[in-house]
Amino acid sequence: MTVGFAGEDVGAWPRPRLFPRPEALQRSVETLPGVGPAVKKKLERLGLATVGELLLHSPFRYEQPVEELRIAELGGDDEVAIRGEVLSVSKRRRGRLQMLTARVSDGSATISATWFNQPWLERQLQPGTAVRLRGRQGRYGFDVRSFDIGNGQATADFAPVYPASEEITAKKLRELVGAALPLSLADPLPAALKQSEALPPRVDALWAMHRPRSLEEAETGRRRLAFDELLLLQVGLALQRREREQEVAPELAPPGELGARYRDVLPFELTEHQERAIAEIDADLERTMPMQRLLQGDVGSGKTVVALYALLRAVESGKQGALMAPTETLAEQHFLTLDEPCRALGVTCALLTGSVKHDVNSDIVVGTHALIQKGVDLPNLGVAVVDEQHRFGVEQRKALTERRSPHVLHMTATPIPRTLALTVYGNLAVSEIAKPPANRKPIITAWVTEEKSADAYSRLRRHLDDGRQAYVVCPLIEESETSQARAAEAEAERLRRGELRGYRVGLLHGRLRPAERRELMARFKAQELDVLVATTVIEVGVDVPNATIMIIQEADRFGLAQLHQLRGRVGRGAEQSYCLLISRAREELTDTAVARLEALVRTTDGFELAEVDLDLRGGGQLLGTRQSGLTDLKFAHLRRDRPLLERARALADELVDLDGPLRDEVERVFDGADLSAG
Ligand code: ADP
Ligand code: MG
Repeated sequence: MTVGFAGEDVGAWPRPRLFPRPEALQRSVETLPGVGPAVKKKLERLGLATVGELLLHSPFRYEQPVEELRIAELGGDDEVAIRGEVLSVSKRRRGRLQMLTARVSDGSATISATWFNQPWLERQLQPGTAVRLRGRQGRYGFDVRSFDIGNGQATADFAPVYPASEEITAKKLRELVGAALPLSLADPLPAALKQSEALPPRVDALWAMHRPRSLEEAETGRRRLAFDELLLLQVGLALQRREREQEVAPELAPPGELGARYRDVLPFELTEHQERAIAEIDADLERTMPMQRLLQGDVGSGKTVVALYALLRAVESGKQGALMAPTETLAEQHFLTLDEPCRALGVTCALLTGSVKHDVNSDIVVGTHALIQKGVDLPNLGVAVVDEQHRFGVEQRKALTERRSPHVLHMTATPIPRTLALTVYGNLAVSEIAKPPANRKPIITAWVTEEKSADAYSRLRRHLDDGRQAYVVCPLIEESETSQARAAEAEAERLRRGELRGYRVGLLHGRLRPAERRELMARFKAQELDVLVATTVIEVGVDVPNATIMIIQEADRFGLAQLHQLRGRVGRGAEQSYCLLISRAREELTDTAVARLEALVRTTDGFELAEVDLDLRGGGQLLGTRQSGLTDLKFAHLRRDRPLLERARALADELVDLDGPLRDEVERVFDGADLSAG
């Protein structure tokens, strides 16, 4: 092997294991003092079943060093610590807030200390209890951020604050981590590598993360753990790249006259970005290895036009093209888009879904994943386009590629920042359509609080009175599709009697049968309905240029990518379109919710929004990454750790040839995960 870490005997490569599972780490949390069956269950619900998982449970913040003041000295805005004795405790409600108040005195003065939405703390704060509190003066008294009964660790400077649950407190987690830390741990990385990358030993990193004496120390520890995480990921991706190089793709003839005729048939010129994507696809299709390319671009940026070009390349070589969409609605939409140019070109195109089955022998078939389920065979498949690939389950994507290795173009309208694409889809090539066709007017977005929602609806009615159409998106309900549908029905009824009285209101939700949904969409498109009240099922695939305004209710509850997708339903025509985001008052929202809404008002650029999303969330659970089969990145922050990521990527190409524990570990962690998204 070729890894030449200075001073390391290459022949005696010390068989690194990235996330070693020596006995101590694999042990159940139950082996720790203070963990019985009950606590074990609670820990498991946080994903912490083993000592190793507990040690890798990272704090989400650390307490800042603060001054301790006498209560009588309080006055400024800074966070401070105080000590005192609880005199009395009481509970009350303020709107959605549950407020717990304790009168606390230190002899110099008495203050009302408040906790929000933690009513269960009442038991611990009985009169006579000595407390140390950390917080600041707020609207309702001393707003407590953390507290100790007597002398504890929670309010200490740099105290770690863990993601906790109602059942298991951050305090308990701190104690348990304290009990686990002294267990001896093997370090998987060779000394020379640690030295060249300026990384501390693993055990030091864990101590630094859980018991830092400064924020710098905590950061050093986190960085080491982030490196392990990224290296593992990158080695796995490198392995998969390797494997794909062995696959053989259908052979295609060079681009010919069909592509040229396609350009003639289109009623517009392709944009520079579309032409660039096409050139990248052409280059891929020349090779013997199957294309695996991700085509990213906002809704309406012209991806489908490019995708059809790729499909025609297969047709021109006497092979088939297939376009797959996650839902029937979306498949139909695509079919309608493709059918017209196909007719003009004399290319046959068929829709194939769960409910409509015919002609598997057309030049181009469009369908949902039903297309790739058992029984439907496309023996002559040359190019497959997979739309919104992050919505496909791993299994479905596997089924597609295991039987054969067509060229695959993945399309997504949820742009992923380059940094992330490099990381999670490190084995896909990426094309971007970053600029929409020039004839679009950017959607104007406004953020409106609930008390002003009447204004939003009167604006919507003005659009309707001008002959335009509108969407109203119902609040998100996470429990189930059924309760979401039920809530949407109630909301539609309320609107029919209230704000939308006298207008023709349709309701679209996930519980409708495909035929019902189709009919509803057709009626909306034919302007037999003025307003479509909908759940997030309109997120993709609905294309009605006459719809020029959208209201999103309780917009703070949606994710940024989702809001951006929803908004993309308007602004599809030449008319100026609007998106009105309704939420509770700003003070009642979390900082990240405010940041999300502000970003949407500021820009319609999906790539910029994806970057904001990355900043707000750092990496975990981004966009489509959940289905990549990887657990979320715990330590790495994809933006801040960019240099670390690039080092890991560079090293991975060298480490990939290594057999033994490293390889085993990578395969175990990747266990069946399909990172190729194809
Ligand atoms: P996407 O798949 O990215 O949502 P589409 O390919 O469906 O985008 O294109 C959206 C709309 O823009 C379609 O009506 C399409 O005909 C039109 N369009 C695509 N490319 C261009 C272009 N270069 N110039 C003008 N209109 C275009
Ligand atoms: Mg499209």
